[in-house]
Amino acid sequence: MPKATETVLEIDFSALSHNFNYLKSKLDSKTKFLAVVKAFAYGSDSIAVAKHLEQLQVDYFAVAYTNEGIALRDAGVKTPILVLHPQPVNFKTIINRCLEPSLYNSKVLNEFVRVAESEMQNNYPVHIKFNTGLNRLGFWDSNIDYVISKINSTKSVRVKSLFSHLAASEDIKEVDFTKRQIKAFDSIALEFNSKLDYRPWRHLCNTSGVINYPEAHFDMVRCGIGLFGFGNSEEEDNQLKPIAALKSVISQIHCIEEGESVGYNRAYKARGFEKTATIPIGHADGIGRSYGNGNGYVFINNKKAPIIGNVCMDMIMVNITDIDCSEGDEVIIFDGTTKASQLAETASTISYELITAISQRVKRKYLNVSEC
Ligand SMILES: *Cc1c(COP(=O)(O)O)cnc(C)c1O
Repeated sequence: MPKATETVLEIDFSALSHNFNYLKSKLDSKTKFLAVVKAFAYGSDSIAVAKHLEQLQVDYFAVAYTNEGIALRDAGVKTPILVLHPQPVNFKTIINRCLEPSLYNSKVLNEFVRVAESEMQNNYPVHIKFNTGLNRLGFWDSNIDYVISKINSTKSVRVKSLFSHLAASEDIKEVDFTKRQIKAFDSIALEFNSKLDYRPWRHLCNTSGVINYPEAHFDMVRCGIGLFGFGNSEEEDNQLKPIAALKSVISQIHCIEEGESVGYNRAYKARGFEKTATIPIGHADGIGRSYGNGNGYVFINNKKAPIIGNVCMDMIMVNITDIDCSEGDEVIIFDGTTKASQLAETASTISYELITAISQRVKRKYLNVSEC
């Protein structure tokens, strides 16, 4: 692999294929696979990722917001796209761009039906979301009759699926709670379907759900983080391959004496003769200030260099006193070996937050694009 010569996020499509196939191997052959590609496919590139997954015959995509779905349609993605968290202001656009809304309360249900009718739609696919304990979005089980009567009162929409979301599928301490969620969802779907003359799909599991609750795969699963190479346990992590590697270079090396300071607010002071390296990546690229002041680190020539002082908008400074390196040398922030999940822990956060934060300013580089 040629060494990085500037800040770059390398995205490895053979790792994406690997993760997709690994997660699929957990499923019954009839269970459909929805790939969650919200937030630029977890900070990578939603268009390139979606196109690759289309070649692998993924069944469905999901995004959070309408504009994310529009970007995929603009790029020519043809697979159905579920919009998990749409707002009524976008319902006409959703219909015009063949996006499929999650309807999570009566306000959005009523409004979507109104727009679908005025757009002369017939059987427009919608997805009904139920709350089974996350208490974030979704109808309650007590709303079933209301939803059914609304659905049966119009020809404009058809329920493609019923779904809910697990609150703690990765947490073995919450197995009892998760099992109650699964049971609640199962009985909601049973009651709902008994009052409808067709049978929508049911889906509940995210990545950790797929791995920890094989009995709850239902008709489809919704995987995000696993596709991008992270599970929620060491065991899963060993089976998955991070698709993204964040690399940079040393712009400049400084030699400083005891008492000299580094960066804004003089937040770091040298304890003796020290060497520092300045790296062209900062909080505007997604390395938040919480990684500064000795919390986070990068790797230079396989050695850990702690981030010292405050993270700047466009730069970090790292301590390289004990590292043999030169200006222009490659810097690894995370890759398949030194994982984003480990770096995230240094700032008391999780892989999801670190990888989705990598901003659009960081150049993307695509590896093994054609390999499916
Ligand atoms: C983001 C999201 C997912 C994907 O979860 P992962 O843990 O990344 O697999 C699935 N379902 C819903 C409703 C989500 O918001």
